[in-house]
Amino acid sequence: MEVTFFGTSAGLPTKERNTQAIALNLEPFSNSIWLFDVGEGTQHQILHHSIKLGKVDHIFITHMHGDHIFGLPGLLTSRSFQGGEDKPLTVIGPKGLQQYIETSLRLSESHLNYPITYIEIDNQFTYHHKGFTVSAKLLNHGIPSYGYRIESPTTPGTIDVEALKSIGLYPGPKYQEVKAYDNFEHEGQIYNSEDFKGPAKPGPIISIFGDTKPCQSELSIARDSDVMIHEATYIEGEKTLANNYHHSHIEDVFCLIKQANVKRSLITHLSNRYNYDEIDTIRHQLKANENVPHFEFVKDFDTFKI
Ligand SMILES: [Zn+2]
Ligand SMILES: [Zn+2]
Repeated sequence: MEVTFFGTSAGLPTKERNTQAIALNLEPFSNSIWLFDVGEGTQHQILHHSIKLGKVDHIFITHMHGDHIFGLPGLLTSRSFQGGEDKPLTVIGPKGLQQYIETSLRLSESHLNYPITYIEIDNQFTYHHKGFTVSAKLLNHGIPSYGYRIESPTTPGTIDVEALKSIGLYPGPKYQEVKAYDNFEHEGQIYNSEDFKGPAKPGPIISIFGDTKPCQSELSIARDSDVMIHEATYIEGEKTLANNYHHSHIEDVFCLIKQANVKRSLITHLSNRYNYDEIDTIRHQLKANENVPHFEFVKDFDTFKI
């Protein structure tokens, strides 16, 4: 799998950084792309990349602030002309999302040539799709803002050919049965398929947070994530200021990384006051402290393999 950032700025775009949008490429599990948040201009950013809008079959929205949703009407309309015709789309997000999209499309007399299914979420949200399980929890951001936890499918263990040969079962159609079923029969005897396979490999866990100040539900979303994507609007200065504005300070994110046993953290939604050089300077200062866990500040168009 792969994650690409199309916008990493908080609140407003800058000359270098657009507002929020994250694309999750589900290959090899599924030939599709999920978008998380669609800040204004996301479709322009995607034009600079090989991703095609027709491949986007799910859009998840974390919360209704403009820097996370103002790109939706344009992107949805363009999808009709960029490979999306007749390809269903599922849009998932907080209450009010459907009304926002439908009102924008109706008043601008825009017509889509594909169906949209809307799912408006609450704190109990759980969703299953092609072996993926996505759950959401409410954060603390002044308006309803959600964090998503994506659990990828488990890859079954590979067939142990030598073990099968040892019971006289040589490669052939029967191997499909061993792969597909819990038990199989060979020369009148029933065998447990698991005894003839390597260990199953759990798929990666990815957590993607909406804007938030520190809160209890963060832990259950982030726990044991292979990759966590989190905001840090404030990467220096007073922590209380960040939290007063319902945002996270970089120190909050460091705490969460440690508490939740996060393996890799990609930090986005940095204040629009910084350019890349300034972000790099602050990154060096932070990394000079040996107690700081591993983290990365992401840039627009950065792609990470998962
Ligand atoms: Zn934001
Ligand atoms: Zn926000």
